[in-house]
Amino acid sequence: MSPTATAVELKSCPLYIDGKPVISRGQKDIQCNPATGEAVAEIPRTTAEEISAAVESARKAFEHWSKTPVLQRCRVLFKYRQVLEANAQELIALITEENGKTLEESRGSFQRGIECIEFACGAPSLMMGDTVEQVGTGVDGWSVRTPIGVCVGITPFNFPFMVPLWMFPMAIACGNTFVLKPSDKVPRTAVRLVELAYEAGLPAGVLNLVHGAKETVDRLLTDPRVKAVSFVGSSAVARYIYQTAANNGKRVQALGGAKNHSVVLPDAEMKSTVAAVMGSSFGCAGERCLATSVVVAVGEAGDPLVKELVKAADNLSVGAGCEAKTGMGPVITEEAKKRILGYIDLAEKEGAVLARDGRSDAVTRGNGYFVGPTILDKVDPNSRVAKEEIFGPVLSVIRVKDIKEALEVIRNSEYGNAASVFTRSGGAAREFTQNVSAGMVGINVGVPAPVAFFPFAGWKNSFFGDLHALGKDAVHFYTEQRVVTCRWPD
Ligand code: NAD
Repeated sequence: MSPTATAVELKSCPLYIDGKPVISRGQKDIQCNPATGEAVAEIPRTTAEEISAAVESARKAFEHWSKTPVLQRCRVLFKYRQVLEANAQELIALITEENGKTLEESRGSFQRGIECIEFACGAPSLMMGDTVEQVGTGVDGWSVRTPIGVCVGITPFNFPFMVPLWMFPMAIACGNTFVLKPSDKVPRTAVRLVELAYEAGLPAGVLNLVHGAKETVDRLLTDPRVKAVSFVGSSAVARYIYQTAANNGKRVQALGGAKNHSVVLPDAEMKSTVAAVMGSSFGCAGERCLATSVVVAVGEAGDPLVKELVKAADNLSVGAGCEAKTGMGPVITEEAKKRILGYIDLAEKEGAVLARDGRSDAVTRGNGYFVGPTILDKVDPNSRVAKEEIFGPVLSVIRVKDIKEALEVIRNSEYGNAASVFTRSGGAAREFTQNVSAGMVGINVGVPAPVAFFPFAGWKNSFFGDLHALGKDAVHFYTEQRVVTCRWPD
């Protein structure tokens, strides 16, 4: 393909400033379809002037949007939900095309995104303050929650639709305005999210969109007009965002990476446990912050479990996410594929048993970024593959003698996003939930993703900040509290 022909065919990726699409004058990067390796779009690196204009548009819109009655703000969100539903098929196909996940997985993440909007529609009651009469003689006291101003959202590649919806619906329902900086690997779903918000009647400037990576983020983190930053991504970047945004006086929540453990006790029901671990480890090609990347097999659970997992992985159909028969799609980029294959090489050197080696699957030799499902058995808990986030379809199995040792393995992890236990014993489940060092916990559930009205975040290096995403924490994050003490003359 000649460069000219490529340029004509590539889709463009507009910014959104003041309610209008803007073609950036910035340098362009190329986005490839992970299932085919073909170039599909040009992604701009937003210029400094364009970023400033996006923030200014949000700042100006805040003046009227923050004063717009909360019911009126929520009415736009009710309509937004309807508009997204009307475009569901197109959006689901777009998520799959950009990210690679299967259509069924895209449909699931679409639904979880919609639930975030539904939760944000409850802002009128969620924002209610407290009142106490007669705090002193003839004196009443009450508290109110008011919006904070321009909020920024920086999102990862793995959930192009859902993660932005963790952020801006609640932010704008509370009366803030927003600048979204989606992952530079999956920016086109974000473009549709913003376009459709305006189709639903959002006033100009309330939601703005900029593209790019570190340079764009750094400008947003240091802009004095930005009051709060929500981030979801890897831990190294989360720590950086937390420190930089906080140093610049902003409120910040930064959700980081993960290394999640599923503990399987010998009394676990094998069939449903294998199904849950398979879904958790290889769903979305392992590119999920709640993915089980380590199974901790207790006692005699190990041998039958590994045998059944290998059998199930052999039957997993790996291919393009858009094909109905596909059970697992590609990983996001060529670099991600190389990194994941590198971890499998490393596991071999570190002495793990390759119970299933995804490197030898035929699909890994095509043009797409495929890695076959890989199961590493008898992994040393102190090895790098046991400790580092691989973020791909690679499952490590660590063998331990009892639940105490399993809890110790989890405690030693630098991450603390999620953990699950599989057992029929209420006592063992209770011991697990009371002692596990993770923020989101599952009992006989492989992906313990809290629904939108619960807070969402992990512990340790999986989270930097105080107030989590979603739940009432989100309402508190996106509002300031004012307490009024009032006396009227008799
Ligand atoms: P990433 O950290 O590479 O990128 C996240 C965002 O930060 C993107 O918008 C990216 O453009 C930007 N960015 C990248 N490098 C930057 C830098 N040096 N300075 C400033 N900004 C930068 O993450 P990713 O690869 O897109 O996503 C995968 C990661 O996200 C995994 O670690 C996964 O566990 C994590 N994740 C966590 C959660 C959670 O709830 N904790 C949810 C989803 C994903």
